[in-house]
Amino acid sequence: MNDSLPPDLDRLQTLEYWLRLQLRAVHTRIEEVKRYEASRPKPIPPPQPDWLLQPARAAGDGRPLYVHEGHCPAATGKAITRRQATEALTSGVEACPFCRPDTALGL
Ligand SMILES: [Zn+2]
Repeated sequence: MNDSLPPDLDRLQTLEYWLRLQLRAVHTRIEEVKRYEASRPKPIPPPQPDWLLQPARAAGDGRPLYVHEGHCPAATGKAITRRQATEALTSGVEACPFCRPDTALGL
């Protein structure tokens, strides 16, 4: 038996009633919060960049590793413009072997 509870029926039933009121209040609040969350506008993800420049490896020579198309699953790095992608590829940065941005850029 739980020693923290009163031994008599009257007080136990009072506690039960109070706990039911508290549980109802919690359920009401949960529904309010759910409605509020559902009414809030969802954050819009930033647009996918068209081109990405993958930075050099830490132990590398400092040159970027690859130029990627924005949709490439292997893409990491910073967003760059079409012109920057073309300049990077023509200056010796390699094209990603998966997405082949050089082909998309007509190089
Ligand atoms: Zn790629």
